[in-house]
Amino acid sequence: MKSPVKIIGAGLAGSEAAWYLARKGISVELYEMRPGKLTPAHKTGYFSELVCSNSFRSDSETSAPGILKREMRMMNSIVMEAGDRYRVPAGQSLAVDREKFSKYITEKLSSMPEIKIIKTEVTEIPSPPVIIATGPLTSEPLVEELKKIIGEKFIYFYDAIAPIVDADTVDMSRAFWASRYNKGEGADYINCPLTEEEYKNFVRELMKAEKFPYHEFEKGKHFEGCLPIEEMAERGIDVLAHGPMKPVGLVDPRTGKRPYAVVQLRKENREGTAFNIVGFQTKLTYPEQKRVFRMIPCLKNAEFLRYGSMHRNTYINAPEVLDQFLRIKGTEIMLAGQITGVEGYIESATTGIMAGYFVRKLHFEGKEPLIPPDTTATGALLSHLRKKSENFQPSNINFGLFAPLPRRVKNKLKKKQLYSERALKDFRKWLNKSGF
Ligand SMILES: Cc1cc2nc3c(=O)[nH]c(=O)nc-3n(C[C@H](O)[C@H](O)[C@H](O)COP(=O)(O)OP(=O)(O)OC[C@H]3O[C@@H](n4cnc5c(N)ncnc54)[C@H](O)[C@@H]3O)c2cc1C
Repeated sequence: MKSPVKIIGAGLAGSEAAWYLARKGISVELYEMRPGKLTPAHKTGYFSELVCSNSFRSDSETSAPGILKREMRMMNSIVMEAGDRYRVPAGQSLAVDREKFSKYITEKLSSMPEIKIIKTEVTEIPSPPVIIATGPLTSEPLVEELKKIIGEKFIYFYDAIAPIVDADTVDMSRAFWASRYNKGEGADYINCPLTEEEYKNFVRELMKAEKFPYHEFEKGKHFEGCLPIEEMAERGIDVLAHGPMKPVGLVDPRTGKRPYAVVQLRKENREGTAFNIVGFQTKLTYPEQKRVFRMIPCLKNAEFLRYGSMHRNTYINAPEVLDQFLRIKGTEIMLAGQITGVEGYIESATTGIMAGYFVRKLHFEGKEPLIPPDTTATGALLSHLRKKSENFQPSNINFGLFAPLPRRVKNKLKKKQLYSERALKDFRKWLNKSGF
């Protein structure tokens, strides 16, 4: 008899892992500290509580979150089952009645004989098999335990995410390739120049734009070196022109002069299909990011693959710390959910399902799991956790994470359709041969 899988945290990821394993007849001990001890954002004792928005974003087949949802449904996700059951009208998005949603998941998991629920805060990491799915607000004692294993420098407490744009939508008739003072490879960045007037208009709109409010527990906690772009702007009209938008070491080939200010775009993937707006971490609402960042002339038609954000968030540097099966390298301790460096409800839930599958294969069947290819949304998300970078940041699912299409497609809708068709076809193939 193998010992049960201990799952710590009954959030989106932990609930999915428990659901998957229990349905495969594997015993689970599911540890949850709420309601005895709440996190700063959770309010109830229900499993899979949605701490903020009640939306799982777009459910359109031609959007990246829509593709991920379809893959989750194919994997019998409990988050999708409850989400579809308690859907509320929200256009193309899947939004849910949050209370009914979480209550349903709590009751389902509580009624399964394979799942033993233990309502306590875990302060030491139990012996394997174990899945840690304690989320962005993991309690302090467990963070201390994790630090001992993975080292302090690989665990973070705030994310600072800059928006990502689709490379095909940058106006290259005005932008130019260069690195400041020709450093690095000499042309590592796309530079979007602004005149003085364009820059000042941009800064004024940035200051006026609507922002997500800070939660009480997040106030005043940002590092000076990583402020939201709008907070920098509020310190003075020229602050950005001396900071992330400084034009030094750059000459605009169209004018032969140094621009007044510059926005730099850095490659987000090797293929160069997605670009990060350097230093533009922000708390602007999504519609405002679209409106204000499109005031940068080269980005006037930009398609945003991911919007910027800044949160209180406990997560690890997954590419340094985890192996391909979400285990802390050299150990059997598996991680799932937001703590791995994915961002968002459905992304966290998906890594929970995958952790359940990985543990079952590795621990109970002694077989190597098969990872979905990065042409699929699930595979693309997992591949984000394996890509080393200087500044690893959490990511939600977006087309920039998918393997690029074999050939360039200009038409936006056609491109999304092709991503979607390929993903769903490859995912079905993976399901058939993975022993999922
Ligand atoms: C303030 C805030 C707002 C957010 N808003 C959104 C949003 O609008 N949309 C979105 O998609 N994502 C949002 N996120 C991200 C969101 O938290 C994740 O997408 C998702 O909830 C993460 O799932 P998870 O399973 O990893 O963690 P969680 O769902 O947080 O689950 C972790 C569980 O572990 C428990 N736990 C923690 N420590 C211990 C311990 N030591 N012992 C036992 N149990 C423990 C917690 O009580 C919790 O139930 C937000 C995050 C924060 C912090």
